[in-house]
Amino acid sequence: MTFTARYDGTCAAECGDRIHPGDHVRYVDDQLVHVGCFPKDDEPEPRPTCPNCFTEIALNGACSCAS
Ligand SMILES: [Zn+2]
Ligand SMILES: [Zn+2]
Repeated sequence: MTFTARYDGTCAAECGDRIHPGDHVRYVDDQLVHVGCFPKDDEPEPRPTCPNCFTEIALNGACSCAS
């Protein structure tokens, strides 16, 4: 559910920008985020796969052949 912010706040999503009254926002885990910053349908991003070892590449860039 989206609504219009009534108070200043801070976006809890990655953008980290201020939320101003009148902005379209919604709650994610009880924290306000801009509607545009909301991750779509809570679906995790598909992770890239290493072309050499075919394991998912971790956030730090590590895969099975890098260890
Ligand atoms: Zn935001
Ligand atoms: Zn690899």
